[in-house]
Amino acid sequence: MSGRFFIIALHEGGRIQEETWELVSFARRCGAAGPVMMVLSDEGSIERLAGELAHRTGLDVVGLAGSHLREYSAEAYIRTLVPFFRDASEEEEVHIAAAHTSRGIDFVPQLSIGIDACCITAVEDVGEGSFIRSLHHGRFRAEVRADRAKVVITVLPGAFAPEDIEPGKPGRIRIVPAGDISLSTRSRGTRAPVHANMGLTRAEVIVSAGRGLGGSENIRLLTMLSSLFPKSALGATRAVCDQGWLDYSHQIGSTGNTVSPRLYLACGISGAIQHLAGMRNSGMIVAINTDPHAAIFRTAHYGIVEDLTTFIPLLVDRCLKRG
Ligand SMILES: Cc1cc2nc3c(=O)[nH]c(=O)nc-3n(C[C@H](O)[C@H](O)[C@H](O)COP(=O)(O)OP(=O)(O)OC[C@H]3O[C@@H](n4cnc5c(N)ncnc54)[C@H](O)[C@@H]3O)c2cc1C
Repeated sequence: MSGRFFIIALHEGGRIQEETWELVSFARRCGAAGPVMMVLSDEGSIERLAGELAHRTGLDVVGLAGSHLREYSAEAYIRTLVPFFRDASEEEEVHIAAAHTSRGIDFVPQLSIGIDACCITAVEDVGEGSFIRSLHHGRFRAEVRADRAKVVITVLPGAFAPEDIEPGKPGRIRIVPAGDISLSTRSRGTRAPVHANMGLTRAEVIVSAGRGLGGSENIRLLTMLSSLFPKSALGATRAVCDQGWLDYSHQIGSTGNTVSPRLYLACGISGAIQHLAGMRNSGMIVAINTDPHAAIFRTAHYGIVEDLTTFIPLLVDRCLKRG
């Protein structure tokens, strides 16, 4: 890959987000020569954040600093990044990568419009001069090629394992004042998610619910199944938590809990990469899904192609009769 390659490091509460280190692996897989890390913050913390990136990766870092960047907002990022990248000529190849997190997908599409770039989201693999992304919950893989010199990419968390980087000597740091931009949006503060669920992290068996459950009335099926195992807990996909069938403390995945029980029973779960990121290290994975082509079957050790509403009661009944 020729041209310049930038990695936008996102941070929260003074800490660089973990997905940033995965983006370094992504850049290497793309064959980028000397990718540049980028971080945006206010004058008070920019040097520390840039220093951490330069030390940990050995890559050069550009820190964009301004008081409007004290807290994250899509408007602040876009109004800072667009002028920075506008100086690149139309022919110059520029790749800009950010994590496909709620923040990444918040500002990246607008950034691509602002600099007239091609926008490729949710990338999970790299082809020959192309990017691979999933369609229809992982049932199909699309190979996408950029049709412009400038490309903005979001990379799915969990898709590229962070490498053990031994940087040797730290990269160079350049702090660029981004001016003080007056914003039309104002942050009203942040609230920490209540994700940590000790029951889940200690459980030996996790029975996990996906949207295929059909409704909160069927949670009882999973409770029945889970009660067969002494040290068990209920997990869920984000789709289930978004529906309000279980609360967010049950969510497993890149934005939820990370678990590795001895047995993981995935019930009505398609196998989206964000979910796999939180459970793929389980000892044994058994999936129940009506769709034989569901992506979860590529990760599961055993697959049951069945309707869970008929299969689970039969299984529980059989187990109880056996004692
Ligand atoms: C930034 C970001 C972060 C995310 N973080 C997470 C995360 O941490 N965790 C997470 O889980 N997701 C996360 N997601 C969402 C993720 O992309 C998927 O949308 C989600 O995991 C899908 O949940 P699901 O498998 O329950 O639903 P679906 O993808 O809708 O799958 C439902 C499955 O049920 C099957 N099914 C239907 N009926 C039945 C039946 N009767 N019996 C058996 N099977 C049946 C279907 O064949 C299908 O495969 C995130 C997304 C984004 C953009």
